[in-house]
Amino acid sequence: MQKKTIKDVDIAGKRVFIRVDFNVPIKNSVIEDDTRIKGALPTIKYAVEQGAKVILASHLGRPLKDKKKAEEKGLPYDAGKYTLKPVAEKLSEYLGSAVAFEQDGNIASLVSVMNGGDVVMRENLRLDAGEEKNDPDFAEQLADGIDVYVNDAFGTAHRAHASTEGITHFVDICVAGLLMEKELEFLGKALEDPDRPFVAILGGAKVSDKIPVIESLIERKVDKLLIGGAMAYTFFKAQGFTVGKSLVEDDMMPKALEIEQQAKDAGVELILPTDHQVVDSYDPINSRKSIPVAFTNTGLVGLDIGPETVEIFKAALDGAKTIVWNGPMGMFEEKPFDEGTVAIANAVAEATDKGATSIVGGGDSVAAVNQAGLADKISHISTGGGATLEFLAGDVLPGVAALEDK
Ligand code: ADP
Ligand code: MG
Repeated sequence: MQKKTIKDVDIAGKRVFIRVDFNVPIKNSVIEDDTRIKGALPTIKYAVEQGAKVILASHLGRPLKDKKKAEEKGLPYDAGKYTLKPVAEKLSEYLGSAVAFEQDGNIASLVSVMNGGDVVMRENLRLDAGEEKNDPDFAEQLADGIDVYVNDAFGTAHRAHASTEGITHFVDICVAGLLMEKELEFLGKALEDPDRPFVAILGGAKVSDKIPVIESLIERKVDKLLIGGAMAYTFFKAQGFTVGKSLVEDDMMPKALEIEQQAKDAGVELILPTDHQVVDSYDPINSRKSIPVAFTNTGLVGLDIGPETVEIFKAALDGAKTIVWNGPMGMFEEKPFDEGTVAIANAVAEATDKGATSIVGGGDSVAAVNQAGLADKISHISTGGGATLEFLAGDVLPGVAALEDK
């Protein structure tokens, strides 16, 4: 599945449209987290160095949906929240040269005076209803005068929008950016040709969110499947245990039993927690204790995996050659219920140090690894939330397929 990348085509002096993911959190014109901007820098810098005329485009939030909601509820709508201008300014700093920014639809005039190595940035694509509708007219407008289309927005590749899919019908040369290439390489290898033993760790709040991922990993005969987080309680309840007030999806209990059977049939070792950190729902602050899962009574809430489980999961990771992790082991946003997640993050980092290729994906999981300060000890931190999960579920991402068809 070798995809053409920006390095495979001649871009010197060409107009190159790069779809990036600059959907960053901005408050009062200040960018609170610029991870995504940094993620796109290798592709942008490469294009600049090659002397391309670089036109950048991204979405930011959901301006039209938010506007409609505000109007319906009679609330104020702050249009200033949806401009990419602060991102253009930040990028100018990183590139050490001014990035011209589209204002009042002046993109054509900005582009017409570009020289090789110049960078211009379009305003938030989602200000036009045509973007999310994948409207061919809007896609054609985006493609106007463009020689090469580059998709570097893996996090948006699961959506068939005008800038991720439609545009590829109007540009002859369409390739992946360097960040996109890295995502497809790591995630693709894990799914198609993983070095073994291959261990997957899944957690998070809901089984229902993750069923396609679990099933896809079992189908690919992952060697071990570790399940923690609130997700485990649906499995326990389905097995007949009392889980107290822990988070459970009752309607998913039959599915949980089915998954256990699927794992058995495929020879996948499915490992669930044996102990957990619980609190008494009447005194959540002072009542934290670690108990065996089997001792849970009706008044208790499980919020993290326990120390024995940490040891069991660590042992399962020992010697792993591929590790895929999605979903925190507990309610990591609330200390001390981050302990299990941090311990597993350390175990994954350690296994990586010993030669495993590790991949962490999912918005909260990545946040947890960052919070633990371990991001640089993981082989690949996936930048896609929903896109990563859809990829791991084995789905074809429209934004990726559009490049393949070329
Ligand atoms: P990701 O974004 O990485 O895919 P999810 O969104 O599936 O992860 O799950 C993350 C959420 O799961 C977090 O908000 C975390 O607090 C919650 N969570 C994990 N374990 C528990 C638990 N035992 N009880 C309640 N919430 C939990
Ligand atoms: Mg999440």
